[in-house]
Amino acid sequence: MKYWDEKHECMDRKELERLQLFRLQKTVAAAYQSVGPFRQKMRDKGVLPGDVKTLEDIRLLPFMSKQDLRDYYPFALFGKPLSEIARIHASSGTTGKPIVIGYTKNDLDIWSEVVARCLTMVGADKNDIIQISYGYGLFTGGLGLHDGAGKIGAAVIPASSGNSQRQIMLMKDLGATVLCCTPSYALYLSELLAEFGVKKEDLKLKYAVLGAEAWTSGMAREIEQRLGVSAHNIYGLTEVIGPGVAIECQAGQGMHISEDHFLVEVIDPETEEVLPDGMTGELVFTCLTKEGTPTIRYRTRDLSKITKEKCSCGRTLARMDRIMGRSDDMLTIRGVNVYPSQIESVLLDMGQTSPNYHLVVDRVNNLDILEVQMEIPGDLALDGIRQLEALAVGIRRKIEQTLGISCKVTLVEPRSLPRSEGKAKRVTDRRKM
Ligand code: ADP
Ligand code: ZN
Repeated sequence: MKYWDEKHECMDRKELERLQLFRLQKTVAAAYQSVGPFRQKMRDKGVLPGDVKTLEDIRLLPFMSKQDLRDYYPFALFGKPLSEIARIHASSGTTGKPIVIGYTKNDLDIWSEVVARCLTMVGADKNDIIQISYGYGLFTGGLGLHDGAGKIGAAVIPASSGNSQRQIMLMKDLGATVLCCTPSYALYLSELLAEFGVKKEDLKLKYAVLGAEAWTSGMAREIEQRLGVSAHNIYGLTEVIGPGVAIECQAGQGMHISEDHFLVEVIDPETEEVLPDGMTGELVFTCLTKEGTPTIRYRTRDLSKITKEKCSCGRTLARMDRIMGRSDDMLTIRGVNVYPSQIESVLLDMGQTSPNYHLVVDRVNNLDILEVQMEIPGDLALDGIRQLEALAVGIRRKIEQTLGISCKVTLVEPRSLPRSEGKAKRVTDRRKM
């Protein structure tokens, strides 16, 4: 087994917790001193940095939310003067106005270190050629993977996203062995391969490092099969550092969180109570080493659960489950809560369906209506009307059975739904328009 940083990845839990506590105390004290709004929140709760005596005492500290980052946009939550800030990134703005995060030189080093850990966990090393097809720019995907890939000494192809025909050319001509992008873009590229007459055997790809959006294991298997790779789920968010907070190792049993840098809690999003390991709730992260924008008890709105059981890969770092969706993605349809990923699971479980779908929600006569638009699988004849009808009915029934909601299933022509080069937009909610 190859590790990038065996000491921290396989640390004895007691020792890890001692390190976490030491770093937490330091981080809280620094933020209290340098970040006015954090100090104010601590005062409002009647808490002082010295009150954090055990790891559990983190529960005394106030939460931080995306709203705080918007309210104090752009610099009021920075923990260092601008003279010490080396880079500024912004979130993609999927759920509203983007927020900005400042990185010191040290933060950038930590970031590349955890991404190097992730790439090594997947199986990559300096002999690999890594094509980075996440967008480069303010979005953390591109530059985050870039610096980490550089750190392991791999040959980096900084392709950025878009210009998909060129992506395929690069992948083939330069013999990329690792592809990094969003799962929906990987799927799109796999469709284009067929279109350009490139076979997966013509490529040298071994691994795909995919993340930045919710996706199912069914989608992972589909991409693995189409591209001939082992697909690894990578998780991260700008507020915490960017991609590289967690990644699936080769055992594929959840994503290892770099806990020596990112302390994780899972809370009930309603009551804000901390939940025990194994229970699904909202992930809350505290950055134990980041200084540019101190991030303490950040509510991610991402839903998952964690386990601290040692993994068969030998790592002791906690593992988080695949994200079911962010709470903002949750659709309430006639009182039933549904995540797009649940519908994706149903579609892919049916075997013959293509993983390209779009959900349209509307309200007609005060009733919520869900329409599932799905592309006709390429191997089904367009004129096989009976076959198509049977497929649509089958999907509708399966969604009803599994999720308890009725819906309308519309089969659309292959390649007619929009493709994304970054994060896929799976839902149009007309009720909000
Ligand atoms: P934005 O919140 O504007 O999309 P980011 O670009 O920082 O900003 O994206 C971070 C978010 O992307 C996470 O909070 C999460 O919702 C989603 N995300 C990132 N990686 C994954 C993943 N592997 N699986 C599911 N969702 C992910
Ligand atoms: Zn593992």
